[in-house]
Amino acid sequence: MIPVLYTIDEVRRSIKAEKRKGKSIGFVPTMGYLHEGHLSLITKSKAENDITIVSVFVNPTQFAANEDFNTYPRDFKHDLAILNDTVDYIFLPTQDTIYPEDFSSSISVTKYSSDLCAVSRPSHFDGVAIIVAKLINIVAADKIYLGQKDMQQFLIIRQMIKDLNFDIEAVACPIVRENDGLALSSRNIYLTAKERQQATVLYQALKAAEKLVHDGETRSFIIYKAIKKIIDSQDLAEIDYIEIKDIDSWRTLDNFAGKNTLIALAVKFGKTRLLDNIIIYDSSNPV
Ligand code: AMP
Repeated sequence: MIPVLYTIDEVRRSIKAEKRKGKSIGFVPTMGYLHEGHLSLITKSKAENDITIVSVFVNPTQFAANEDFNTYPRDFKHDLAILNDTVDYIFLPTQDTIYPEDFSSSISVTKYSSDLCAVSRPSHFDGVAIIVAKLINIVAADKIYLGQKDMQQFLIIRQMIKDLNFDIEAVACPIVRENDGLALSSRNIYLTAKERQQATVLYQALKAAEKLVHDGETRSFIIYKAIKKIIDSQDLAEIDYIEIKDIDSWRTLDNFAGKNTLIALAVKFGKTRLLDNIIIYDSSNPV
C-alpha cells in the first residue's frame, strides 16, 4: 500500500527522512482523475529520482466563480487504483490544510500571463502560482514534473521558480494523446459523443501546421490561416485562440524563423475548452 499523507507535517517528515538517506525526490502535482498523461509524468520522475511523490488536490484558487470547480471530476479511489504501487507517496491535503481561514497571500507572475488562457481565465495563473509555490515549499523535492499540454502554465511556473529562487528544477513532459490524437485531459469526459469526434481537429490542425513548417514555412499568418481553416471545418468547434509565440521573449511572432516557437490552440466544444500545442525548436538556440 502506498502511504497517503494528509498533513503538511507528515509530508515534511517523510521527505526529510528520505533526504537523510541521500534519496533524490521527484514531485508530480495533479488535480486527480488521473490518466496516462499524469502517468507519463510519474514515469519520468521515477526514471530520474529515487523517490516520487504525487499530490492530488483540486485547487479552488485557480477556478473563477463561474468555472467548474464544483463539478471538476474527482475519484480518489480510481486515482489510488491507477497509482497502485507506482509511486512512493501520495499527498492528499484537504482544502483547509492548504488554505486556512486567514490565508492572505498571492503570487502574480507577469511574464507569460497576459494572453492565451489568461484572457478567458484572468485569475487562473495567480491561482496556479500560489498552489504550486506552496506545494514546492511543502514537498521540497529536487524536480517538479509538469505537462507540455499546459505549456503556458509550465512557463509561468518555471519563471516563478527562477524569480523566487526556489531550489527545484521544472521538467516539461511531452503531451500524451488518445490514438486519434486528442490530448488526454481530465475534462475530456465533459464532451458529448459528437464533440469528442470533432475534438480531434486540434491535433489535425497542429499536424498540418507542423507539415507546413517542415516544408519551410515560417510566416505566422500562413500557419494561422491553415489552422483556422481546419478547425472551422467542424461545426461544433469555436476557436478561443490560435497563438504563435516566441517561447523565450513571449513576443507574438510574424515570422518565427530562428526562434523557439510555441503554436498554441484553445478551442471550445460546447462548454468544454480544449488545449493543445506544438513547439518548433530552433536547434541553434535550445530553450
Ligand atoms: P491536472 O491534473 O490537469 O492539473 O494536470 C496535472 C499535470 O499533468 C499538469 O502538469 C499537466 O500539464 C499534466 N498533463 C495533463 N494532461 C496531460 C497530457 N495529456 N500529457 C502530458 N501531461 C499532461
